[in-house]
Amino acid sequence: MSRATRAIIDLSALEHNLSLLQDINETSKVIAVIKADAYGNGAVQVAKQIADRVDLFAVAFLDEAIELRVAGITLPIVILQGPHSTDDFTDAQRLNVIWVMHERWQLEHAKNLKQRGKLDQNKIWLKFDTGMHRLGFPISEFEAITESYKELLEKDSTIVTHLACADDISPAHAEHQIQTFLQAVESSPFSLCIANSATNMRFENARKDFVRLGIALYGSTPFPKSYDKSLSLSSVMTLESEIMAIRRIPKGDFVGYGATWQAKRESLIATVALGYADGYPRHAPSGTPAWCKGRLIPLVGRVSMDMLTFDVTDMSYVEVGDKVELWGKHLPINDVADHIGTIGYELMTRISKRVPRVYISTGIKS
Ligand SMILES: *Cc1c(COP(=O)(O)O)cnc(C)c1O
Repeated sequence: MSRATRAIIDLSALEHNLSLLQDINETSKVIAVIKADAYGNGAVQVAKQIADRVDLFAVAFLDEAIELRVAGITLPIVILQGPHSTDDFTDAQRLNVIWVMHERWQLEHAKNLKQRGKLDQNKIWLKFDTGMHRLGFPISEFEAITESYKELLEKDSTIVTHLACADDISPAHAEHQIQTFLQAVESSPFSLCIANSATNMRFENARKDFVRLGIALYGSTPFPKSYDKSLSLSSVMTLESEIMAIRRIPKGDFVGYGATWQAKRESLIATVALGYADGYPRHAPSGTPAWCKGRLIPLVGRVSMDMLTFDVTDMSYVEVGDKVELWGKHLPINDVADHIGTIGYELMTRISKRVPRVYISTGIKS
């Protein structure tokens, strides 16, 4: 590798996080959410690492499931967005996927296939909207939908909903969704699935038969700093690069495109080999932290396509070739995200293909 930039993916941290999550909830079956290439960590590698410890995988759409099947992953895969077109049903023949249905055309098409004996082995789950208002049949139609399409449902078919505010300081919105859902499904024979990471960690009454765990597996808390319920999750991704140049600039000079940062004193500027083409957000402001040789260092000036600049004036001992961690083991991704005005999810999922993923297992098995 000609450039030191890489995302180190610690598979033992992944296992550690899964253990913590299974310890706090020993009863629900686990759906490991590995959409978006396992949030940038590598879906195939993540799936292989935990396949024997979880019950199902989940991805957003069919192509993501096909990638896993091609790589030899055999666990059933839940497709959270259901089919995007009728072709999806054809393409998914014998792939052993579970469709989460949320639109009538999907159910009509499946019914039609079933009547012609062509639904094959794939299963149907149903998504209901309890207040997120993104996907799902209105929960008020629970009886009507389950009755109209009962021939598609099996005894292990599952009723799904998704909460909008499970990570909010106020539990009111989430509680309302949970209650609305539980009342509607009260006397139904189906399995239930409500919880994402935040819900699973916070609302015991919403754990039910299956939990859908994403961000917490990757070691990032879904909660804001002021309200952290993070267990002791361990970062799976460490994004690192190295200092490729160091220059001393006089007081009053500017750094980077647009000359947005001015040196208030004579300064030492370290240029790091990673930029927005690697997925680091261009709108990260001066002051966004990175970690180098045991200290946090502030970003200065604009993010370039392939480079970042940091103020290391107080660290006369830094050298070209020193490692810089953008987030990971020494610097929580959410601390970086807070400065940039986003969330750890976005930072993690946006790291581009150009950054090699290097898989390690540090051996802290639990
Ligand atoms: C992505 C996703 C999840 C996982 O959420 P986390 O907050 O990462 O645990 C769960 N359910 C649905 C419907 C999703 O789209």
